[in-house]
Amino acid sequence: LAVAEPNAFTGVELDRADDARRRDAEWVTAQMAHTGARAVVAGTTGVRASDGVLELVHFDEPVPGDAILLGLDGDGPVFAVDEDPPPAGPARPPLVASGGRRGEPPPKSAGGRLGLREAGSVLGQADAGLAAYAVGLLNWHRSHRFCANCGAATGIAEGGFIRRCARCGADHHPRVDPVVIMLVTDGGRVLLGRQRSWPARRYSALAGFVSPGESLEEAVVREVEEEAGVSVGAPRYVSSQPWPFPGSLMMGFTVSWTGGEPGGRDDELQDVRWFAREEVVAAAEVDEQRWDAGEEDGGLLLPPRLAIARRLLEGWLGGG
Ligand SMILES: [Zn+2]
Repeated sequence: LAVAEPNAFTGVELDRADDARRRDAEWVTAQMAHTGARAVVAGTTGVRASDGVLELVHFDEPVPGDAILLGLDGDGPVFAVDEDPPPAGPARPPLVASGGRRGEPPPKSAGGRLGLREAGSVLGQADAGLAAYAVGLLNWHRSHRFCANCGAATGIAEGGFIRRCARCGADHHPRVDPVVIMLVTDGGRVLLGRQRSWPARRYSALAGFVSPGESLEEAVVREVEEEAGVSVGAPRYVSSQPWPFPGSLMMGFTVSWTGGEPGGRDDELQDVRWFAREEVVAAAEVDEQRWDAGEEDGGLLLPPRLAIARRLLEGWLGGG
């Protein structure tokens, strides 16, 4: 594995058209009337795909008003369409293409639908990125049907990059939640933790949401202290990854241990401990793609290849 290989869910090959064009209602209308308009179609059970390729479906009717304009490719506009739009009531809608809590295939997986985790390992780089982009936006639309300010119903504006409240005039923008994820290292050993809900023997990098009024570097130091009870030096940024379950951006760091013995301060992790480089080398040879694979006895299980945590670990191994 080349360390420089891009993270899964990146690499969308579209002009996102996120500029003055979207504010021009005539331009947006022209995209909806474009004969080359196609759509990524996704619903509660997954995104439409066949033979390992994301389907771009041509419209045989006018493009519906609630289609989300993702951007443009060489053949015209590309939209995202929710094939199971939530009912009008306030009930909390399910996530689009969640593929189960641990990435289980959705019930209709055999029927040309891929859960998002499955899509991340089955589709090519650009298609998986496009699936993540479409599903991320569709999930945001599902959960922002009502104004956070006044509670009235909101409507689509700017081709789907905004939901606007007709009652109070508030504009709501698609949301991305920053998460820091970090490898704590100390020479030939690395600190990993596991959550109770994970498959047996699976350990991964520590991670947590960034708080308001906090830098990424401060979040790394705080989360390591809270989850593992150890202190660390200055974090070094490595790379980032959209993680649309439903709206995170994972920002990956490495950081050196400076003191303290691992032991959870909060209940978030079931276990946190050091692993020697040799244990991680052996685990990295197991090419697990699925989050829930490998319940049988054996050694350490790393996160699947589509997760940035796995890339951080392989980068650490590759660093000698
Ligand atoms: Zn409002």
